[in-house]
Amino acid sequence: MKIEAIRTHILDHPLGRAFESASMRFDRRQHVLVEVICEDGTVGWGECLGPARPNAAVVAAYANWLIGMDPLETEKIWITLYNALRDQGQRGLTVTALSGIDIALWDIKGKHFGVPVSTLLGGRFREELRAYATGSFRSEGLDRVTAIAEEVAGYRAEGFHAVKIKIGFDVAEDLRVIEAVRDAIGPDMRLMIDANHGYDVLEACELGQRAARCGIDWFEEPVLPELLPAYAQVRAGQPIPVAGGETWHARWAMQAPLEQRAVDILQPDICGTGGFTEMRRIADMAALHGIRLVPHVWGTAVQIAASLQFMAALPPNPPRRAPIEPILEFDRTENPFRQAVVTAPLEHKGGVVAIPDSPGLGIEIDRDALCRFAPKA
Ligand code: CA
Repeated sequence: MKIEAIRTHILDHPLGRAFESASMRFDRRQHVLVEVICEDGTVGWGECLGPARPNAAVVAAYANWLIGMDPLETEKIWITLYNALRDQGQRGLTVTALSGIDIALWDIKGKHFGVPVSTLLGGRFREELRAYATGSFRSEGLDRVTAIAEEVAGYRAEGFHAVKIKIGFDVAEDLRVIEAVRDAIGPDMRLMIDANHGYDVLEACELGQRAARCGIDWFEEPVLPELLPAYAQVRAGQPIPVAGGETWHARWAMQAPLEQRAVDILQPDICGTGGFTEMRRIADMAALHGIRLVPHVWGTAVQIAASLQFMAALPPNPPRRAPIEPILEFDRTENPFRQAVVTAPLEHKGGVVAIPDSPGLGIEIDRDALCRFAPKA
């Protein structure tokens, strides 16, 4: 079998109401899917984390090496493409683009052998995952405290066991939001906070010290991801477990945070850190260091499907009769094409998402939706 062509599909939709994390403003949603086409007509799908057009450009650049290779040789292709741009690459768009290609190749491999990717990865430990709701950005034109309290009460009513909210804007205002959220969700629902690296070390320590009494499971990206000693300072300077890793790409970027124990929870993204091929290595590295792994997920149903297949095959760590089950990040912000790109949406029921068991990623792409959400200009 040989790879004949590679295409990218950019999806675009303007938002009804713009929203912000501490580091980014969203007035539209844009994501990019990757389609790898084989000579025998088999097609595989992947997705890249991050800005759609730059990712699409790097995916197109990889075509030069990819066309003509055997799609089943995922390891060989991964290192060939990585080496092709290594001297100017190593992390960032070179790896996020490679991630989308790698996921598409595993989709092809699963279809070729007639099994889900989770079976190729060594077997399924679980058939469903509890999801946590990600939302609670700062919405333009709304009172942040009231709007977010109302939003998280909705997640509770839908059956989610946990919610992650956005902070990193201003310590005093963020604390008011956290307190209002804890009031709105009650004492039992789990709560996580994500600063999107908006604080400096002193702010992160102050926020963590004062928010801890609200019962917080983890404090995500408190400070800039390049500053590993700052992560260590935040871990030492406040009591909430620190999480991070969505911007650390490929094994080499994970090595220092793991060795230095910069985080309590590592959050690689399968569409950013190198696809299935690299995620397996990173999961092994995290297990080797005794650091908990909770994948980052932010994309369409293709990204959700890839994460589900990977997490189905994630071994319990530590193994025990009632193991710590991985939880699935489930973006609840406005994105009309998130589930529209597949014929059978990967929706939650009472905060639980079933893991598909058909071949490859276990999804069918709706090509009409790709046309409908293609950029207009
Ligand atoms: Ca995050």
